[in-house]
Amino acid sequence: MTVVSLVKGETVAEAVREAVDMIGGIKKVVKRGDKVFIKPNLVVPLPRESGTVTDPEVVRAVIKLVKEAGASQIMVGDAPVFIYKSRRAFEVTGTKKVVEEEEAEAVYLDEEEYVEVKFPKAKLMNTVKLPKKLLDCDKFITVPKLKTHTMCGVSLAIKNQIGLLSPEEKQIYHRTDIHQKVVDVTLAAKPDLAIIDGLIALEGQGPTYGNSVKMGVVIAGEDLVAVDAVASSIMGFDPQEIAHLRLAAIQGLGEMNLDRIEVKGANISEVRRYFKRPLADVMGVYPNVEVYVGCACHEGCLAWTRVELDRLGKHGLIEKIGKINLIIGRDVRLPQKMEGRTYVIGDCAERYRDRGVFIAGCPAFGILGNIQPSK
Ligand code: SF4
Repeated sequence: MTVVSLVKGETVAEAVREAVDMIGGIKKVVKRGDKVFIKPNLVVPLPRESGTVTDPEVVRAVIKLVKEAGASQIMVGDAPVFIYKSRRAFEVTGTKKVVEEEEAEAVYLDEEEYVEVKFPKAKLMNTVKLPKKLLDCDKFITVPKLKTHTMCGVSLAIKNQIGLLSPEEKQIYHRTDIHQKVVDVTLAAKPDLAIIDGLIALEGQGPTYGNSVKMGVVIAGEDLVAVDAVASSIMGFDPQEIAHLRLAAIQGLGEMNLDRIEVKGANISEVRRYFKRPLADVMGVYPNVEVYVGCACHEGCLAWTRVELDRLGKHGLIEKIGKINLIIGRDVRLPQKMEGRTYVIGDCAERYRDRGVFIAGCPAFGILGNIQPSK
C-alpha cells in the first residue's frame, strides 16, 4: 500500500524530519554520494507569510536531511512566473539566505542551460526542455506549497513541475491542456520524493492572489499522486475533482484512491479545512468591469483575465481603472456602443479587434500589464 505521512509538528525542522521518517527516512531515497536537486515553489517574489511560496525554513530542513544522508552536492532550483526573475524570487522569499547558510547551490533556472529530452510517453510534449543540472542529478526532491490554483484547482507536487520548464515552454499549453501538460512534465522528470509545505497555506484565488491560512502541516511521500490526493483532501477537495490527478493516476504515475493510501501521522479528518475555492469566472465580479464572453476556455483566457483582475483587486487598483469592457472568446454578442476603455482578449476574439485594444495569444498572456489604472 502507498504510504503518505501527514504531520502537525512543533517546529518546522521537527515536522519535516518526522514526515520523512514516517515514510522510511531520507536514506531510503538519498544514498551517500548522490547529487540532489531540490525544487521549492518560488512562483513570485513574496515572503513566506504570503502563503504563496515554499517556506525557506522547510527548504533548510530538507537540505539538512539530505546532508545527513551523505549527498555529495545539493542544488536548490526554481524560476518564478515569467514576468519575474529567479534571483529576485530567491532573494525576497529568503531562499537565497538559507541556501547560502546551508552551503548548498542556488540554481536560477531562468539563467540555466536547458537540454531537449525526447519523451515518447508524453501526450502533448513529446520533447521537453529540462534544466541540464536537474538531468545531471541522481535524486530529485520536490518541495511544493499547499495552495489553491485558479486553473488547476490545487497547486501541489504535480503542479510544481511547471516551474522546471524554460520560460517559453511555460507559456505553451497553459490553457485547458495544462492538466495533461503537468502530467507530461512529471512523466519526463519524476521526483523521487515530495514534501509539501503546508505550514502557511493559500486558499481562494491561488496561486498568487489568495488568502494565507495557518495549517501547520507537512505532507510527504514517494508517490506524488498519493501525496497530492491526501493534500487535496485536507483542503476539502475530493481528489477526483482535480483533472491532473485523474490523468496522472490513469497514466500510471501513482495512486489517487484514498482507500488505497495508508496515511501515517494525523488523520485527514482532524486536519481538514474546507478551503475557499479558486474562481476563474469573470462576469459580475467587479461593477466597473463589464465582460462580454462568447465561447471561451475556463483555464485559458477566462482564468488569465481573472488572474489579472485579482492582481488589480489585491493591490487596491480595481476602482482606479475606471469603467472597462472586456471581450473574450468567439461568437460574442456585443452592444452597438460601450462606455469606457475596451480590451479584446485572445485570438478567438480577434474579429472584434476594432472595438478596443487587442491582446493576442491563445491564451492571451499579454493581459498582464495591459490593463492599467487610468491616468
Ligand atoms: S484564445 Fe480562445 S481557445 Fe485560446 S485560450 Fe483564449 S478562449 Fe481559449
